[in-house]
This record gives sequence, C-alpha cells and structure tokens, in this order.
Amino acid sequence: MPNIAVFIEQRDGALKKVAWQMISEARKIADAHGGEVWGVFLGPDATEATAEAGKHGAHKVFTASGDNLTAYNSEAWGAALANFCKSNNPDLLMVGSTSMGKDLGPKVAAKLDCACISDAVGLSFDGSFEYRRPIFAGKCFVDLTSSTSVTVIGVRPNAFMVNEVGGTATVETFDADVDGIDLKAVVKSVEASSGGQIELTEAETVVSGGRGIKGPENYQLIEKLADALTAAAGASRAVVDAEWVDYSHQVGQTGKTVGPNLYIAAGISGAIQHLAGMSSSKCIVAINKDANAPIFKVADYGIVGDLFDILPALTDEVGKLKS
Ligand SMILES: Cc1cc2nc3c(=O)[nH]c(=O)nc-3n(C[C@H](O)[C@H](O)[C@H](O)COP(=O)(O)OP(=O)(O)OC[C@H]3O[C@@H](n4cnc5c(N)ncnc54)[C@H](O)[C@@H]3O)c2cc1C
Repeated sequence: MPNIAVFIEQRDGALKKVAWQMISEARKIADAHGGEVWGVFLGPDATEATAEAGKHGAHKVFTASGDNLTAYNSEAWGAALANFCKSNNPDLLMVGSTSMGKDLGPKVAAKLDCACISDAVGLSFDGSFEYRRPIFAGKCFVDLTSSTSVTVIGVRPNAFMVNEVGGTATVETFDADVDGIDLKAVVKSVEASSGGQIELTEAETVVSGGRGIKGPENYQLIEKLADALTAAAGASRAVVDAEWVDYSHQVGQTGKTVGPNLYIAAGISGAIQHLAGMSSSKCIVAINKDANAPIFKVADYGIVGDLFDILPALTDEVGKLKS
C-alpha cells in the first residue's frame, strides 16, 4: 500500500497543471493497490491548491509556509521537501520536470540519499514501483526500479492524463524546518523571457518552425497559427542558431523537451536531435515540401507542400472554426 506524495508547484501563486497530471496518475495506483495520494504545497495560501488537488484525487495536502518558502529558493525548498519526506515517509515523491522541478528533485534526493529518476513518462506498481523514461535522445525507453525506501521522480509534463474524481483533500500543515536558515544564495528577482506567452514545456499544443521558414520575418506565420490554436511557438535549432528567434523557443536535445497533445512541425526536416525533444508528443503533424523528409517517419499526419501556402490557410480555418 504505497503512499505517493506529489509536489504541487506554484510560482507567484500560479499552480502548474503537471501537479494534477501526477496526482491523477498516482490516484489510479492508490485505487488499484491502496495507499494514499498526498499533495505537498509550499508557500502562502494553499486554498486553491488543496481544492484542485482534491478534485484530481489527492486524499490529503500537506502545506508549509514562511519567509523562506514564499519565493522559490532551491536550498530552502529542497530542505523543506526533504524534511517532509523524513517525517511522513512517502514511498514516492513525484516532482514535475519543469525548470523548477529539474532543479529541486535532485536536490531533495541528495538530501535524502535516495534514488532520483528524471524525466519519467511512465509509472506502474505491482508490489514495487517501476518507472519508464526515454534514453538515447528518445530513441528507446528504459524501465527502472529503485531499491531505496523513498524515490524521487521527475515527471515530464503532459506524460499523464488529467483525471477529475471530484474529491476533497484534507489539509495538514507540516514543519518544513527552514525558518531562519542561512541561505547561501538568495534570488533577488526573476525576469520572465517569454512574457505572457505559453510555456513550451507545458503547452498542450506546440507549433514549431524550422529552416524552411527561410528568414526571421516569416516566424510570424508560426506565431499566428500558435495564437489561433492557443499554442506555444517553438523552433528548431537551425532557426535559433541563425538568431531568427530566441533560444527559449528551441525544441530538442539541446533545447526544451515538450510532450503536447498536438505538435505541428513546419519546415523542419526531423533530425534526431530535434526528435529527441518532441517525439513523445501525442499527435505529430508535419508540414514539409520534401516527401522524403525524416520528420514524416514520426508524424501521425503529414502534409507535403509549401508551408507558405499551408500555414496561412490553416490559421484561417482555425479562425473560422473558432468564430
Ligand atoms: C549536439 C547537437 C545538438 C543539437 N540539438 C538540437 C536541438 O536541440 N534541436 C534541433 O532542432 N536541432 C538540434 N541540432 C541540430 C540538428 O541536427 C539539425 O541540424 C536541425 O534540427 C535542423 O533544423 P531544421 O530541420 O529546421 O533545418 P533543415 O534540416 O535544414 O530542414 C529544413 C526543412 O524545411 C523544409 N522546407 C524548406 N522549405 C520549405 C517550404 N517552403 N515549405 C515546407 N518545407 C520546407 C526542407 O524540406 C527541410 O526538410 C543539434 C545538433 C547537434 C550536433
């Protein structure tokens, strides 16, 4: 009967939906094998987090707040999560593989001296946990077990479906024991590079452009379709290296890993390093004028044609459907 703790990430009060995906998946295991699902929330005002966590299947939400738990700080937050695990002994701690989670998860695991499995896309339980993660730039998957009493896993956003069970979680505060600790580094301010835009790694739809867009002036074709679809705008490294868009848009091995429900690749050849960042997308649509482009091997739907005709036509059609 495993107890699964799920870190509910917030930045400036905004909750990350990967938490509801993890809680939904954890609840499936609890329903099948017993045990409880616990949300863990750090920061002031856990009201919304608790309501959402309960709705998605958490039995309980543990909360802690204080000066060191208001703005994110890996040292204090890492210690707080590790202290939570020491006093409550979950069998598993799930942390979203967001930029915060990638920083936090390994720190907690190091403090607990336990296994840390990053970028998990699958989880099962049959007396013990088994975790699935991609290796070799997404070319294959490996299934792992852990021999430590608690395991920290980083979970790729959108790897699991959100499920609503409509429950109510109870709330319990815990002593994070980080008040007054002498932080070695303090975050003075955070400047978001993609003000107002949808975060690539969490987007449900991504539209990406490659060298086929020919120049920076044409990236607006990608952005227009992305806007119409309420999607995030991505790019191949060729586009980023040419300085047509900022690095924050790069998808791939040396960029961001995305796992949306829909990924539209326009003018992207499908190099292995690009596929490494998007091949776990649920549905891939490729637009390329070369019918032999490798991207078509991973695409669910392929459009062989000129992106300069297809992107505006698609954007128009989406606009018509929405109106
Ligand atoms: C260590 C390393 C790490 C890397 N990391 C990454 C990474 O993180 N992300 C990444 O993307 N790449 C990465 N790369 C680079 C990668 O190998 C490719 O060079 C890059 O992905 C190619 O980008 P592209 O598909 O946009 O360009 P190209 O390969 O030049 O493809 C352009 C495509 O556009 C099509 N096209 C041209 N005109 C049109 C048109 N009018 N309409 C429709 N289609 C058109 C062409 O047929 C072609 O298929 C990495 C490489 C290395 C060595």
